[in-house]
Amino acid sequence: MLLITDVTAVTMDGDRRVIADAAVAVDGARIAAVAKAAALRSRYPDATELAGRGMLAIPGLVDAHAHADQSLLRGMTDDLPWIPFLAEWISPYLSRRDPQVAVAAYRLTMAEMIRSGTTCFVSPNVDPRDDLDALTSAIDECGVRAVLAHWVEDDHTLDGACAAIERWDGAADGRVRMRIGLDIPRLPGDPYRASLYARVAALDHGLVYHFCSETEDWTYYEDRFSVRPTQWAESVGLLGPSTLLINGCWLTAVEARILAATRTPVVASPSATMKMASGTTPVRDLRDAGVVVALGTDGAANNDCFDMVREMKAACLAQNARRGRAATLTAEDALEMATIEGARALGLDADLGSLEPGKRADIVLVDLGRAHTWPATDPIANLVYAAHGGDVDTVIVDGRILLRDGEFVDLDEEEILAEAARAAVEVAALVPHRTPRWPRQ
Ligand SMILES: [Zn+2]
Repeated sequence: MLLITDVTAVTMDGDRRVIADAAVAVDGARIAAVAKAAALRSRYPDATELAGRGMLAIPGLVDAHAHADQSLLRGMTDDLPWIPFLAEWISPYLSRRDPQVAVAAYRLTMAEMIRSGTTCFVSPNVDPRDDLDALTSAIDECGVRAVLAHWVEDDHTLDGACAAIERWDGAADGRVRMRIGLDIPRLPGDPYRASLYARVAALDHGLVYHFCSETEDWTYYEDRFSVRPTQWAESVGLLGPSTLLINGCWLTAVEARILAATRTPVVASPSATMKMASGTTPVRDLRDAGVVVALGTDGAANNDCFDMVREMKAACLAQNARRGRAATLTAEDALEMATIEGARALGLDADLGSLEPGKRADIVLVDLGRAHTWPATDPIANLVYAAHGGDVDTVIVDGRILLRDGEFVDLDEEEILAEAARAAVEVAALVPHRTPRWPRQ
């Protein structure tokens, strides 16, 4: 039994209890109890204690939109609109890279995620050429959870995805889950594959796809079928609780009602969609309509980081600007999206997303005792508005301590960074070189 003592526990349970002078008892991979430290000390007198030193204990953060293979593109693709970004940088990177480059990128991404408190991520569009044995081994080594959505664009890739799901779903002691990452039309001239959508809809696999993100993503369906994208997706059977829709910046009130009725979750990625000028997800409208909305960083190619703490703040600011009203999305709303709602969006809320007895011991300790987060009068507001991922001190997944005192317990970070630097040289040769705006000497 491990007893994490002297913390303020933000439980995210049904009552959203925040417990001062708390402890979290961990039995193996699961949480045994969350209560006042004095009570748990007397209940578990023989437990090994891990000193929380007054830190905030929160559930591990869920990054529900994280292109984990794009960390090596950091700094290479800034200030681009989505079409040249995808066509001239992402596509060549995906089609020409060595599978080992993807592994190096994933390891760098996961190191950053652990450092910033993310314990579970969704990687959409996992390339069929990727080495899933190596990727799942890297995830196992790093100790986090991942939902890998295998790219599907035709019958052949669907066959490959089904085989991959069969082979790797549940890998790394159940920490790896597999889904289909579906390609749907986004631009005039994109192939429309009715029989593929029917095949996918008939399967029992989870789905992840980019949806109604850019203006073109909805004009395609209005021009071709005279319906909104959500009406199209419902008509072909691609909605439901096991589908995760990415971005949805241009979703309307009518579509929000369909998503609520079909219990289809959406993930917002405010930093990336604002940076690329795609728009902002109508998070407040969706939540008010009863839609589950998760939060994601998108990735280092168009957000430059995988920092979910910073993303929570961006989520609030984006909604406030969208409505022109403070507190349109509160710090509490954002923390829900990054924890329990993220878990719910993935159908994993029975195990993840809150600090409650019986759930997986995915626990993050955040140090708010620093100049930029002090005084911690309202720990939720300080976490969301003042902190950043670098304030994460300790990360535990399945009861295993991955980060302690801001240092990796098992991972060799120096080696991960050196490997990433070598791979980044390869990546730079695959994509267009952009001349810096200022002279480099
Ligand atoms: Zn994406």
